[in-house]
Amino acid sequence: MPIYLNLPLVIDTQGRNVYLFFIELKDVPGALEKLTDVISENNVDIRTTILIPSREKINIGYVLTHLDFSYAQVSPLTLNNLIKRLEVVSDSNYIEPQYDNLIINTFSFPLGVMEERAVIFRADWLKGLFKRLLKRFGSGGEAFLFYMGLEGGRSSANMFRKKTNITGKKLVEAILMALQAMGHGIFKLEKCNLEPLEIIIKAKELYECKSNEGEGGSQFIRGFLSGVLSEAFNMDLLVVEVKCQSRGDKYCEFHAQKTSYKEL
Ligand SMILES: [Zn+2]
Repeated sequence: MPIYLNLPLVIDTQGRNVYLFFIELKDVPGALEKLTDVISENNVDIRTTILIPSREKINIGYVLTHLDFSYAQVSPLTLNNLIKRLEVVSDSNYIEPQYDNLIINTFSFPLGVMEERAVIFRADWLKGLFKRLLKRFGSGGEAFLFYMGLEGGRSSANMFRKKTNITGKKLVEAILMALQAMGHGIFKLEKCNLEPLEIIIKAKELYECKSNEGEGGSQFIRGFLSGVLSEAFNMDLLVVEVKCQSRGDKYCEFHAQKTSYKEL
């Protein structure tokens, strides 16, 4: 099973003496090793680390790291000065917990995936929103979610194709993998034939299906997959969900049918 990836953007220090450091590291061999050496020499524990190349500065990498000073021989201020003195570092700053045990990363904005701005919503919040929409608007709400998904799927497939030059079946597979990477669910393209048409996608752990326990079926994700397949194969395809974890099936299963969105 894939691991649970808890992004360290807002963290609970759980009573530990943790600070968030933001270090600008020069792009030279061994730079990260020299940085981690000075951290470990002072008995400071690295809790999390993100290392990314800078978009703003040439030959600079950003290190965003939560450091635990519970058993440290130095203060955060002293360590920050030691880090700044390293030849491989061009700048270093840190913040302490803003509220009791809570450190919120205020060093960065915005977030990005594939160089595209992204925002994070809690899955529980999103599925609650879907549930209230369906309760209030019934089948109108279902159609609304489906068309939102359809446009989202088309837009994502277009963006992905432009950036990667991947097309057709490979494009669908790449997007399904990216959906897993971004936490939507775990997908598998089970069958993919165009003549005769037989496209089957299996999925597990879809946040949308868990919201409708016993009520059955996704609308947003079903629409999203319809949009992805329609763009990837350049024809109007409608995805129906024939099995669903919310109805007690072991996985959700989606089949594609030919359709015409102009008529809908
Ligand atoms: Zn489902």
